[in-house]
Amino acid sequence: MVSRWACDRCGFVAWTQDRSGVSEVTGSHLLAHHSDALSKSDFRVSWDCPYCATAKTAYDTDGAVAEFKAHLHGHATDRIADGVHVADRVGWDGVVRVDASPTGGEADALRAHFHGAAGLVVAVTPAPERLVRALDERLSSWPRRTVIVSTGEYDFEATPDVDFEGLDVEIVELDPRLSPDEVGETVSRILDANHEPGERVSLEVSVFHQIVAAFDVERAVAFVRMLAARLADAGGVLQLYVDADADRNVATVLNFLDETIDLTVAVDGDRFVRRP
Ligand SMILES: [Zn+2]
Ligand SMILES: [Zn+2]
Repeated sequence: MVSRWACDRCGFVAWTQDRSGVSEVTGSHLLAHHSDALSKSDFRVSWDCPYCATAKTAYDTDGAVAEFKAHLHGHATDRIADGVHVADRVGWDGVVRVDASPTGGEADALRAHFHGAAGLVVAVTPAPERLVRALDERLSSWPRRTVIVSTGEYDFEATPDVDFEGLDVEIVELDPRLSPDEVGETVSRILDANHEPGERVSLEVSVFHQIVAAFDVERAVAFVRMLAARLADAGGVLQLYVDADADRNVATVLNFLDETIDLTVAVDGDRFVRRP
């Protein structure tokens, strides 16, 4: 679980590993909204709090800015919540777009955050070994059941230290030439066979770039909508890992999915952010 701060002036939300991480975000963010409250003249820097009557003048610019940020943080603390999950934002039911490389490790903390809070995890990924390693290292215990749908053959030699004997992990190797319909059907069958009533589902799709590359815009859009509808029956969160900057076609498809996507999150160091 993480701590969360939501700005009351814009749609910005930051989720940090703990409460101390929040204070690194609030001050700078609120200062950006109130930059005119900070002024320089006669070698001195002054700030005048927009929330209360506090005002300061000092010669040490860095010190004054840091003090102002810390002061602004004091006005933000009532909007900080602890022990929350990013998926709370969509009531554990919806589609979350994650702006990160689908195959890099940049978003592994977020993957672990979602998967670690679910009973059933289904992950469609071209990098199954990396995912297994990330979950094994980051989670204190694996989910009740994990099904990894890989678009390649799983290389067990790449994860020699992971003891699959004690884990409820299944690896399904998928023909990389399969169509989105077949991928969708595979996921649907996995949900049927593994989902227990009332259990949270975390569904990761890290193959969206391949799906967009292999098929037209319409079918790629339909694929996500169908998966989202299928998951709505079971109750869970679909995470779509995409790097729209790297692929113009992916960006186009994402535009069509604007109504389907409930939340967009980016990874910023060790925190997760929603930018307005
Ligand atoms: Zn804001
Ligand atoms: Zn104040």
